[in-house]
Amino acid sequence: MLLERVSRLEENHEPLRFTEINNPLPAENEILVRVSVCGVCHTELDEIEGRTAPPRFPIVPGHQVVGTVAALGKNAGRFKLGDRVGIAWIFSACGTCKFCTSGSENLCADFKATGRDVNGGYAELLSVHEDFAYSLPDAFTDTEAAPLLCAGAIGYRSLRLSKIADGQNLGLTGFGASAHLVLKMARHLYPNVRIFVFARSEQERGFATELGAVWSGDTKATSPLKLDAIIDTTPAWIPIVEALKNLEPGGRLIINAIRKEEKDKEILLGLSYPNHLWLEKEIKTVANVARSDVSGFLRLAADMQIKPEVEEYSLQEANRALVELKAAKIRGAKVLRVR
Ligand SMILES: [Zn+2]
Ligand SMILES: [Zn+2]
Repeated sequence: MLLERVSRLEENHEPLRFTEINNPLPAENEILVRVSVCGVCHTELDEIEGRTAPPRFPIVPGHQVVGTVAALGKNAGRFKLGDRVGIAWIFSACGTCKFCTSGSENLCADFKATGRDVNGGYAELLSVHEDFAYSLPDAFTDTEAAPLLCAGAIGYRSLRLSKIADGQNLGLTGFGASAHLVLKMARHLYPNVRIFVFARSEQERGFATELGAVWSGDTKATSPLKLDAIIDTTPAWIPIVEALKNLEPGGRLIINAIRKEEKDKEILLGLSYPNHLWLEKEIKTVANVARSDVSGFLRLAADMQIKPEVEEYSLQEANRALVELKAAKIRGAKVLRVR
């Protein structure tokens, strides 16, 4: 399924074209992967609509790829033919810059994203450097493993960056798929952490309490206790300002969003230095993922026996899956079955 230009999904319900392209050849240290399934992610909508546009066209999207090793490039020896592997958002990084050599390869200036900068998993085959592929825990079927390769890994990174410790108070503002996973991970890793959820919809607040949040309230609510860290997963600015007022001195606001919308940005003019920033409050964003986030999360997911709710489409139905994802018609992750 090939993306050939930027367009708006409301106007163009078929942004991807089903076609035949040449088989990729594995270069040195690469493996050729025969794709079994590929997850459908919100970031594909951002690529199609130009918010994080591919630098060149055409491109095969898809960055939650599960498949088997079909051929080995020269000097590739980490996997055997037939091994099951996963591929995530991080396709490659330079390996030599100060970020790559200090465990922050997600910040490398030469970071390449699967399915945006290079061809991804909405296809039968792709080639990837063997060091950027992951063995997958046996506990998961291909379909169950695919959605774990993105939202889970980035949620895991946001939790790490929050530096939350057991016994502390953690806030989540916005309560979509990624925040659900963060709540479950936090409760598993830190049994005495108290979780506070801020969400606009009453349904989401109810769901948060069901999953073990000790309190839930509206985005603009004041939490009953000050919080040591808050993770934001919304595309808006109001939750940023509102979250800052609920932080403890020295508390951290972690923004886990690939972009923010412009429409409520003027709310920032209401920032009060004493109420929102003073006393060493910190703000940090989460960008991309490092390989350690993907492998760390996969281990944790197997340990926690996370089973994502998955809806399957055929590869040729990718356009319909994307339109339905944008309309948020059905809860649960979407996965394309390639073979
Ligand atoms: Zn993704
Ligand atoms: Zn680098």
